[in-house]
Amino acid sequence: MKKILVINSGSSSLKFQLIDMTNETVLAKGLCDRIGIDNSFLKYTKQGQDPIIINKEMVDHKDAIQTTISALTDEKIGVISDMSEISAVGHRVVHGGEKFHDSVVIDEEVIKAIEECIDLAPLHNPPNIIGIRACQQIMPGTPMVAVFDTAFHQTLPEYAYLYPIPYDIYKKYGVRKYGFHGTSHKYVSERAAVMLKRPLEELRLISCHLGNGASVCAIKYGKSVDTSMGFTPLAGLAMGTRSGSIDPAVVSFLIEKEKMTVEEVNELLNKKSGVLGISGVSSDFRDLEAAADSGNKRAKLAIDIFCYKVKKYIAEYSAVTEGIDAVIFTAGIGENNSRVRRQIVEGLEYLGIKIDYEKNNVRGKEIDISTEDAKVRTLVIPTNEELAIARETMKKLNGK
Ligand code: ADP
Repeated sequence: MKKILVINSGSSSLKFQLIDMTNETVLAKGLCDRIGIDNSFLKYTKQGQDPIIINKEMVDHKDAIQTTISALTDEKIGVISDMSEISAVGHRVVHGGEKFHDSVVIDEEVIKAIEECIDLAPLHNPPNIIGIRACQQIMPGTPMVAVFDTAFHQTLPEYAYLYPIPYDIYKKYGVRKYGFHGTSHKYVSERAAVMLKRPLEELRLISCHLGNGASVCAIKYGKSVDTSMGFTPLAGLAMGTRSGSIDPAVVSFLIEKEKMTVEEVNELLNKKSGVLGISGVSSDFRDLEAAADSGNKRAKLAIDIFCYKVKKYIAEYSAVTEGIDAVIFTAGIGENNSRVRRQIVEGLEYLGIKIDYEKNNVRGKEIDISTEDAKVRTLVIPTNEELAIARETMKKLNGK
């Protein structure tokens, strides 16, 4: 079991990485984009080389997998001589509902169960299934594993995942907190244990995955015990374009006052809110900082709101985990934005969180940024969801 192809299949795109598991290096990675739309192309990067663009008509995901395999096995740009060198495929699947508590080797029954979760993730699970089917057609006989964004959070206790609405709604539709970014939270928690040289089973961790989508996770003794995203990824923190948790009565108010349709409210809360909605500038923190620095008050306000929410979750989850050993910052903003990290933890000294501003001045590096005397470690840990999926794939195929 040496080379694992990791696939993340979206509605019109397909991302992949081919990882050599002997030394966990990425041999090649790429993105097939505009699948089923005109001008589709593959952006392909071979290890140690610049990305190249290959224009190729891809009418469906089967074409995309074929294009991917052709590039990987190409004489000039390829990294393997034959498709048979790919030992297994790991598929990212967004929603595993209550059915999947762990990654799983894919068979017909598993695909059926993922299909049954479509109601819970109507935008994400269908393209995930299409990606799996396409791989089965192009690479019959290659073992495949599904790795779910939700699985890590299946350890949440009932009182944490149930919403206080009529219980029948949970029973009838499965309306409850599921949580997302599970692969990332799990990966960084395992790295934290390595960095702290302590068993994960002893640690109380608060993991802050801060990217365009953002979530906080309380991890007690290796298990997710609460997380900020919910039934959908719309809940919790203020994000790039998502509102995060707001008073649910705002929805009916908008429908009534603005005569909005359900779709329009969904669009407003998912695509036009968050730091973009507040600032009116951008969903990207680099743009927001530049605007704030040049005096844009709403850009500054957007950053303040974002940091305030993360700070509150850290304090809230310190109660959930009954103490903290380490706070973890990961994903685009968490890994790279020292100002946001500093603003979030400012004032949390009472919890034992104290960072060294010099050490904090880093990006994209695994590092402990706490002061020597801090009771709680604050760690920056770059996430690597593809590697986590490849590791899970190996584990499942080795029967673990
Ligand atoms: P996604 O949820 O789409 O995977 P990312 O994890 O890439 O999002 O995070 C995107 C955010 O991270 C943006 O707000 C961006 O400003 C920030 N970010 C990403 N890379 C960098 C970087 N090198 N320096 C500063 N900020 C970065």
